[in-house]
This record gives sequence, C-alpha cells and structure tokens, in this order.
Amino acid sequence: MKYILVTGGVISGIGKGIIASSVGTILKSCGLHVTAIKIDPYINIDAGTFSPYEHVVPHITDAIQEWVMKQAKIPVDEDDVEPQVCVIELGGTVGDIESMPFIEAFRQFQFKVKRENFCNIHVSLVPQPNSTGEQKTKPTQNSVRELRGLGLSPDLIMCRCSTPLETAVKEKISMFCHVEPTQVICVQDVSSVYKVPLLLENQGVVSYFCQRLNLHVEMRPRKML
Ligand code: ADP
Repeated sequence: MKYILVTGGVISGIGKGIIASSVGTILKSCGLHVTAIKIDPYINIDAGTFSPYEHVVPHITDAIQEWVMKQAKIPVDEDDVEPQVCVIELGGTVGDIESMPFIEAFRQFQFKVKRENFCNIHVSLVPQPNSTGEQKTKPTQNSVRELRGLGLSPDLIMCRCSTPLETAVKEKISMFCHVEPTQVICVQDVSSVYKVPLLLENQGVVSYFCQRLNLHVEMRPRKML
C-alpha cells in the first residue's frame, strides 16, 4: 500500500481537498486502484461520559495508524480489488492543536511503512498582495519549517496562488524549503477545479510519484475526466 498524506499550511480553505482528490484522479486514470481518507481532526470524546479505564490518550497515535491501515484496505472500486494507493487528506493546518495527534501519528507511520510507501504533499499559499504585486514566499517557508519541526518533510510543495508562479519564486521556495524546484508545484486559480488534475499532471506529478513511491504505471494517464 502506498500512502500519500496531504497536509495544509498557512490557512484553511485554500484547496487541499481539491488537490487531494485531483492526485487521486490522476493516479486512478493511470490504472491504479486508489482510495481516500479525509481526516477531520477533532477528538470527539466527551470527557464527562468517558470511562477512565478507556483512556486512549497515550495510545492514540497507534490507534490512528491502525485505523488508517484498516480503512486503506477497503475496496472502493467495482472490481472489489484492494486499493494500491491511499490519499489521506488531513484537515486543518499544520500546527493546529487539534491536528497534533494526527501529525505525530503520521510522523511515526512514515517509518513503520518505510520511505518508498509514504510521501507527503504540503499545500501552501503564495499570496500576491496588491500593494507590490509580488508573490510572497514567507508564509510557505514558515509552514514548511513548522511541518519539518513536527517531523514530516514535504515531498511536493503545492503552492496555491492567484497567477502561475514566477520561476524566481519557485527557485526561492526550493532553496528556502530545501526541495528541488521540480518538487514545487504551482496550483494557480483556475476557472474550473476540474482543470487541477491536468495542472498537476503537466508538472510531472505522476512521474514524481512513480519514482518516489516505486509505482509501476503507464506514464501518461489513460483517461482524464
Ligand atoms: P480546503 O480543503 O483547503 O479547505 P477546498 O479544496 O475545499 O479547500 O477548496 C476551497 C474552495 O476553493 C472550493 O470552493 C474550491 O472549489 C476552490 N478551489 C480550490 N482550488 C482551486 C483552484 N485551483 N482554482 C480555483 N478555485 C479553487
């Protein structure tokens, strides 16, 4: 099983869900069996009615990992085949207290399942304030630093921006976030979110996953929406 964790930085509502589903769509169109998990990081246990004998807190990270592995195996396609790839969207933004147990669970999980089976997409925002018209990289630098501080390293940094990223801006994110420029993906505002899978595919996301996760697929997605 290959796991692709999608985390978010800076602010919520920037298109993490669209990116997670677009990644699933392009891998599915390569002939892979893909499933998805959306985690809304709230721990819905009422302390008032919760038996002290049932305290899960020190083991919550183990419980999250076991739950993810169990859910990922559930067939979702008509042919009832076990999925090969699981895209996991972690709601909220990195650093939120409610997502901490999940971040820690995935920090441990990456070693449990081994490097070739786990990667992280970090979705960030590159704002372009009207005052200068410049694309600003600082929020992305800060959120990647925070992610690394929690023990996860981004394999792909997907930058939401209003207009396509300038080459110099991409290089700056690459340099300050310690990734290759090819690992910085631009996801600008588009007229329809159905264009996002193509945007990702055109920037080599499928080839990246093939190499990083040792996936054997036809290099071009067969059918796209
Ligand atoms: P999040 O998961 O980060 O909360 P969503 O994926 O739900 O964000 O997206 C938030 C909103 O932004 C949705 O209305 C979605 O249609 C829109 N959106 C996402 N990506 C793009 C894009 N590249 N261009 C235009 N609108 C987008």
